Amino acid sequence: MTLLYQAAGFFCEGEMKMVQYDNVYYANIHITTEGLTFEGQNVSAPGIIKHNAGFHLELPWSDISSAYKTKRRIMHLVKIETHSGKFYTIVPLDNLKHFIKQSKKNSLILAETINKARSQIESSQNNLCPECGKPLKPDSDFCGSCGHKLP
Ligand SMILES: [Zn+2]
Repeated sequence: MTLLYQAAGFFCEGEMKMVQYDNVYYANIHITTEGLTFEGQNVSAPGIIKHNAGFHLELPWSDISSAYKTKRRIMHLVKIETHSGKFYTIVPLDNLKHFIKQSKKNSLILAETINKARSQIESSQNNLCPECGKPLKPDSDFCGSCGHKLP
């Protein structure tokens, strides 16, 4: 389990209702070789949500059907859908003060990072080059087709 990317954000299962923060968590989002992990942080966002401790959710790559940026009112979100029909919404942030202004940029980065990580993991499992998608010879350091250096 290698950590590929880490971000913080507001997170909930299902639809994010912007006026109602009861079921929204402030979580750390970890993208790893196994999938996505959400860890509820022992921190409150003053005036927005109450303290939520001990929140933990793991979504393996095999459960995730899609991840994409979407919009709700003025807020840009990342929506993650699973094969079992559940979905999760995330507002990624790097600055609590300006999180609405930055939600477009942060959501684009997060959705792109999730999709890139997923395709890289799937390629490596199928022994395909993550760069060009051509099959690889076992135990090679470089792709025989495009020369991409392999991890
Ligand atoms: Zn290649």
